[in-house]
Amino acid sequence: MAFDYDLFVIGGGSGGVRAARIAAGYGARVALAEEYRMGGTCVIRGCVPKKLMVFASGFPQAVSDARAYGWDAGIKAFDWTTFKAQLDNELSRLEGIYRANLERADVTVHDCRATLAGPHEVVLGDGREVTAKHILIATGGQPVVPEKWQGMGCMTSNEVFLMESLPKSILIVGGGYIASEFACIFNGLGVRTTQFYRGAQILRGFDEEARGHIAGEMDDAGINLQLGTDILEMEARDGKTWVKSTTGHDGCFDTVLFATGRRPNTAGLGLEALGLELEANGAIPVDRYSQSRIPSIYAVGDVTDRANLTPVAIREGHAFADTVFGGKPSYFDHGLIPTAIFTQPEYGTVGLTEEEARAQGPVDIFSAAFRPMHSLFAGRDNRAMMKLIVCRQTDKVLGCHIVADHAGEMIQLAGVAIGMGATKADFDRTLAVHPTMAEELVTMRAATRSHSD
Ligand code: NDP
Repeated sequence: MAFDYDLFVIGGGSGGVRAARIAAGYGARVALAEEYRMGGTCVIRGCVPKKLMVFASGFPQAVSDARAYGWDAGIKAFDWTTFKAQLDNELSRLEGIYRANLERADVTVHDCRATLAGPHEVVLGDGREVTAKHILIATGGQPVVPEKWQGMGCMTSNEVFLMESLPKSILIVGGGYIASEFACIFNGLGVRTTQFYRGAQILRGFDEEARGHIAGEMDDAGINLQLGTDILEMEARDGKTWVKSTTGHDGCFDTVLFATGRRPNTAGLGLEALGLELEANGAIPVDRYSQSRIPSIYAVGDVTDRANLTPVAIREGHAFADTVFGGKPSYFDHGLIPTAIFTQPEYGTVGLTEEEARAQGPVDIFSAAFRPMHSLFAGRDNRAMMKLIVCRQTDKVLGCHIVADHAGEMIQLAGVAIGMGATKADFDRTLAVHPTMAEELVTMRAATRSHSD
């Protein structure tokens, strides 16, 4: 059977665009459909605008530090309208680059929604049907608001970047990446920020010591972080939102932001009609080559709910194209993923948490919390944390956790070493770069504690 295309990609985010370009580079005839803006969550309403907001929110602290360093510095009000106009320009620029790269690779772009009508059949928004030998679903995910609070005008991360003005007060619900990052951002921008998290400590699943350290720093920075707390009642009052918490407190907020998780975007794609059974949350089950149970249909990125991170989607998309069109069967190994959470301070992590490592065998923990030179001089009391988790039997570094300004930059390189199987002796042998925060990683000589169980 002659197909219109060798590959049809649904979704113009990080994973889909990478797969389309690489496949086209191998000579495949590729089309891609995107119903919204090219670039996906990362570029349009995720990592990129979030990081720019992180930068924006850091200036009051920087200016206050500048005064301590002798500058006659002052900062006035933050103008959201100016920032947003600049943000919109930047996102449009990046969107243009994504589109230009696809066009340069000879990928046919359809600016519309696409759904599936068969294992090789795609229906475009205008009703046209096209066929492809392979179909890649890279439709990403979307934020979920608990059913009870839907339709009450609350925001999700999608709407943050569309706000017309900055609220004076905000309640953020959730304790994951998104909730914790936005709590720090809004707080830094001068918004009175309250965060409710239903569990005992934010950032569930990450290293416990790091979680506690970050929560302490967030609290010190002025975020009203309420643990073991959820919304009990909520209603609109005088243009604000009145909230009563499960711990019996109540108050009014200009805005309520739900960061209570994300769900794969598979609704209405036509997958169930093809007999493709989805996970309970809508994720597409795939094998390590990103192939679904229907051999012609593959999926990469958040829609598969493996590790919902942009660089992971990119690697999955690239490996898919190498496998199917490049004659080089390959897959992304999800085993060791360096990542950063852009709280303030940042958290960079790679490998096992202390809790995971000690469940696997005897480990030594090298951990230090200290006042960094930069902020100490400015009279601030905040602390950085560095931690290595070392296997007692092999001396291999199993995990590295950094809570400090620029931890994301540091963990990238620690990820290289740990990915190569570096031992504690390798870290010790490495000369310290002085004076830096990261030198702590190669100067921690005595174990802080050991776990033999
Ligand atoms: P997460 O799944 O990380 O966190 C969701 C949070 O909401 C959890 O704290 C969860 O609590 C809580 N929650 C869930 N349901 C409810 C509910 N019904 N009522 C109250 N609280 C609830 O999702 P995020 O939305 O924060 O992030 C999604 C993904 O996006 C991340 O996993 C990450 O992969 C990616 N991401 C990555 C970033 C980065 O790389 N820096 C930045 C932002 C996102 P509980 O712990 O009790 O389940």
